[in-house]
Amino acid sequence: MDIHEYQAKERFRAAGIPVPPGEIARTPDEAQALAEKFGGMTVVKAQVHSGGRGKAGGVKLAKTPADARAYAADILGMEINGLTVEKVLVTTAEDIDTEAYVGVLVDRKKQAATFMVSPEGGIDIEEVAHSNPEAIRKLTVDPRYGLLPHQAYWLANFLYEDPGLAKQASKIVGQLYRAFVDSGASMAEINPLITTPDGKVKAIDAKMSIDDNELFRRPEVAEMRDSSSEPPAETKAREASLSYVKLDGAVGCCVNGAGLAMATMDLVKYYGGEPANFLDIGGSSNPEKVVSALEIITSDPKVKVILFNIFGGITRCDDVANGIVEATKRIDIEVPIVIRLTGTNEEKALEILKDAGFSAYTSMDAVVEKAVELAKA
Ligand code: GDP
Ligand code: MN
Repeated sequence: MDIHEYQAKERFRAAGIPVPPGEIARTPDEAQALAEKFGGMTVVKAQVHSGGRGKAGGVKLAKTPADARAYAADILGMEINGLTVEKVLVTTAEDIDTEAYVGVLVDRKKQAATFMVSPEGGIDIEEVAHSNPEAIRKLTVDPRYGLLPHQAYWLANFLYEDPGLAKQASKIVGQLYRAFVDSGASMAEINPLITTPDGKVKAIDAKMSIDDNELFRRPEVAEMRDSSSEPPAETKAREASLSYVKLDGAVGCCVNGAGLAMATMDLVKYYGGEPANFLDIGGSSNPEKVVSALEIITSDPKVKVILFNIFGGITRCDDVANGIVEATKRIDIEVPIVIRLTGTNEEKALEILKDAGFSAYTSMDAVVEKAVELAKA
């Protein structure tokens, strides 16, 4: 789960990281009022789950409250990488001497948190990694000991030779690690970490992704979810307790069981097609789940065919069949549906489908081959 900059900043502040004051505005009026309250120059910043807001015109320096109002009017409603801006953060502006990068993420290969720091901040870190890899220092944290003070200083010292700045940055690196661990994050990033003309180190941007599997034990983090900033299909899937991952192909897959869903995707590829999604409708499938699944799959305009692959065990084939019939009554499905059902209550299911005008397969190979053929037609 991604959280907004203002939310990540709240977590950072709580961990002790120096972050300039800021508050959320949903209208130009609110933005103006906040700029008046803060006084001086302010920054108006789009709150969307996307990087590169600066480049897209979603970060603006405002000299006066009237400017802040005008910028908020521009930015609210703006689309950045397909996401509509509904909130802006109004924050006091800082004078910037230098911009650095500090990030920590879970490195799956090393199975541990790994820091990356670079004195070349402000810009995309992938770009730096590509064009100037020696400008990045990395450190993997041993989870048994956590981040040790000398390691934090070793990272900070790569950013600043000045011992005063390095000391401040070293403290921030440690605080970032705490915020990362305490939030159950998979990634936490300060880009840029700035120095000011009066010799202060501060975080003026914040980004954090939370591991979904950490949310159940951190309700205060879970409630930061902003469904309006997430792809609607994913929100719908989560609410219907379906595991759904959108992909880029044309064969919409509706399968029960993660293993069978994976095998189905493999087979789609084997026959020369591309799956449009991973979707596991889970064990006990009631017809409602199937309806939700179909609504989710058909909301993707790339889908040219819907492939059901159901292996009835706890999942009863007749439940799924009823779900399919019910869904096609409720929603207009413009693409062909091919179905393979086998297992518990298979006969009953085939009858239900036949009465509704569907034919069904029992062979997995045959149904996938057919789906791929229809996706190409
Ligand atoms: P991003 O583009 O989404 O990463 O948004 P950032 O918050 O990182 O802002 C982008 C750039 O805007 C920063 O790298 C700064 O150069 C500039 N910027 C942001 N906040 C301030 C500020 O308070 N003062 C000044 N002078 N520049 C700022
Ligand atoms: Mn940034």
